[in-house]
Amino acid sequence: MIDAILIEKPDDQQTVKLTTLEDNALPEGDVRVDIAWSSLNYKDALAITGAGPVVRHFPMVPGIDFAGLVTESAHPDFKPGDKVILNGWGVGEKHWGGLASQARVNGDWLVPLPANLTGRQAMAIGTAGYTAMLCVLALEKQGVTPDAGEIVVTGAAGGVGSVAVSLLANRGYAVAAVTGRMAEAPYLKSLGASTIIDRAELSTPGKPLARERWAGAVDVAGCTVLANVLAAMQYQGVVTACGLAAGMDLPASVAPFILRGVTLVGIDSVMCPKPRRLAAWQQLAAELDLTQLNAMTTEIPLDQVIETAPKFLKGQIRGRVVVPVAPAKA
Ligand code: NDP
Repeated sequence: MIDAILIEKPDDQQTVKLTTLEDNALPEGDVRVDIAWSSLNYKDALAITGAGPVVRHFPMVPGIDFAGLVTESAHPDFKPGDKVILNGWGVGEKHWGGLASQARVNGDWLVPLPANLTGRQAMAIGTAGYTAMLCVLALEKQGVTPDAGEIVVTGAAGGVGSVAVSLLANRGYAVAAVTGRMAEAPYLKSLGASTIIDRAELSTPGKPLARERWAGAVDVAGCTVLANVLAAMQYQGVVTACGLAAGMDLPASVAPFILRGVTLVGIDSVMCPKPRRLAAWQQLAAELDLTQLNAMTTEIPLDQVIETAPKFLKGQIRGRVVVPVAPAKA
């Protein structure tokens, strides 16, 4: 039997419960995995609460991440006993996901667990941390070096933000952390932020161009926050945009692009091609400070996932949330 969070929509109203499913209930796929650890991301919270159109069909097992042990494989790259991780590819949206004790997926979606990470550490990183690394790599690719100036990270006390602050600071960048929770300033400083900015400063509509403040940005907020970040970039600054915690729209002007040569880089982790995700995981395994990672991680059991999800949408989650499903397995 499989333990799983299950989202159903028998009529207009979505329901969600922790339940048990038959072993043969899993969807098609050439690799079966015993899940050891899972994680909770903002997108999982949207799926579980029904607050955003994440789930494409019902019933659905949510969970865009998992780490576990292969038990059956018809895929040439994997055999029983291999430790693997999965992030994205529509898992937890259109294909049953990681908030369960087993999954069956397309082996092309799996990444080997990096040798120096445990399953718990991989899920503490999760999609949020892997996306933070995609942002950092994009800044680097665009030529933003530590001597260019400060990098601003929005939603800094959340999952993507916390990992981004840690990665950037450890690479030698000066980091300005934007947060709606000023009480988290000591936490953000412990991750390496040198400046703490109250989110309120960026949450109301500003001018098309503001004082030049930052050389680069990791933005998880979108909406007015992203517009204000764009307006305050230095000449030829680079903004990586990955989130919508403040909203989907972008009430901005073209002024930063045409007068300051600012670059806006979109970051998508879900369909990111395999070579780039392997590179991101390799870099994460090599350079993420595991003591800082542990300090930003909270553990909750599978039976507390449903009650925890709404806290993401209220901005009440600090750092990352991992879910031990069968932790002895990876
Ligand atoms: P979290 O909930 O962990 O963090 C989001 C943070 O955003 C909050 O902790 C809060 O930080 C801040 N925030 C909340 N509300 C607002 C607001 N109204 N305005 C500005 N900031 C706000 O989520 P994740 O870090 O997991 O994800 C962050 C965003 O990135 C989400 O929108 C998610 O969907 C997106 N995402 C996108 C990916 C991609 O592939 N493009 C992959 C992963 C995530 P604080 O209190 O410090 O201000």
